[in-house]
Amino acid sequence: MSEKILVTGGAGYIGSHTTLLLLEAGYEVVVVDNLSNSSLESLRRVEQITGQSVAFYKVDLRDQSQLANVFEAHEFSGVIHFAGLKAVGESSEIPLDYYDHNIYSTINLLKTMQQFNCQRIVFSSSATVYGDPASVPITEDFPTSATNPYGRTKLFIEEIMRDVAVSDEGWNIILLRYFNPIGAHKSGLIGEDPQGIPNNLMPFISQVAVGKRNKLSIFGDDYATPDGTGVRDYIHVVDLSDAHVKAIQHIEQLGGVSTFNLGTGNGYSVLEMVKAFEKGSEKPVAYEIVGRRPGDIAECWADASLAREKLGWKASFGLQEMVEDTWRWQSNNPEGYSE
Ligand code: NAD
Ligand code: UDP
Repeated sequence: MSEKILVTGGAGYIGSHTTLLLLEAGYEVVVVDNLSNSSLESLRRVEQITGQSVAFYKVDLRDQSQLANVFEAHEFSGVIHFAGLKAVGESSEIPLDYYDHNIYSTINLLKTMQQFNCQRIVFSSSATVYGDPASVPITEDFPTSATNPYGRTKLFIEEIMRDVAVSDEGWNIILLRYFNPIGAHKSGLIGEDPQGIPNNLMPFISQVAVGKRNKLSIFGDDYATPDGTGVRDYIHVVDLSDAHVKAIQHIEQLGGVSTFNLGTGNGYSVLEMVKAFEKGSEKPVAYEIVGRRPGDIAECWADASLAREKLGWKASFGLQEMVEDTWRWQSNNPEGYSE
């Protein structure tokens, strides 16, 4: 019998791609999501691509009794925990909601897992836990800090998970620190579908290219980088998802708590991203230079050699594929899943 994985937040951007890869790798998948930032259509399309079914429960992770019902109905060999709120700016406006949805939900999840004797979890952390790094590339032993409530929820959850692992040796935990996920599945059927005005660079650029927005605002061209614009490590969402499958496959053998950076090890500037997108989409991307966005750092890219060594994982997609796959999704689905 195949192993069954619970994916929280599995209707979302990274969760839907990971669900697809888990199914392709032969796992059964159960998704819980409250659909606050996603649509069930993403999972319907995952089923269409794979020809396999996904069990779905509309559950808010803050509701422990509803979550327990899901664990009553299924025996899970592991959990991949994506669910949570993720907008940095918004987290400063409604911090309590961020602590509630991210931290309280995670405590509920861990308690429920303990109750049902499931002690393997892979968690979505973020490169934001490195704050403003003293140098690049960033290795996992760099000091951590947070400058906003969203980042603090990631840091706190990492600490909570370490405490849980110390309290009981039965736990196997993998903390994955994502750099900048972009791109979409090559089918063009699933991708990132932000609500309202996108906060992140790539969905904003692609909405300009498709004609939904007039121009991109580039937040500062006076950073200490080759062209003055911010440099980030963009990673294809399918590569990122593949790392979750490898994490589940290695979690028992690794034991305790492990932390891995997930990036390509390459940094690209905002202007380089605009140029690459214009090339990949053959559409102009109008932009203007505006002031810096508060809290942004100049440059951030990963040393991902630990994930290569311990998980046998390495990013395989280059920038042009990331851009072309984003564009296929955006141009085929200009209104995202809501069409
Ligand atoms: P997403 O918003 O597309 O997915 C998150 C999902 O969680 C959504 O489907 C949402 O409906 C669900 N959700 C939110 N609160 C919930 C709750 N209380 N109960 C049940 N479901 C809930 O985001 P994503 O980009 O796929 O990100 C997934 C995870 O990766 C998040 O934890 C995010 O913080 C982390 N992460 C994302 C990025 C990024 O740039 N996308 C970078 C680093 C880390
Ligand atoms: N950025 C920008 N305009 C936008 C959104 C982002 O110039 O509308 C820049 C931002 O300043 C940063 C890079 O693009 O240098 C990546 O930003 P994003 O929000 O996607 O990711 P993060 O800041 O979390 O790395």
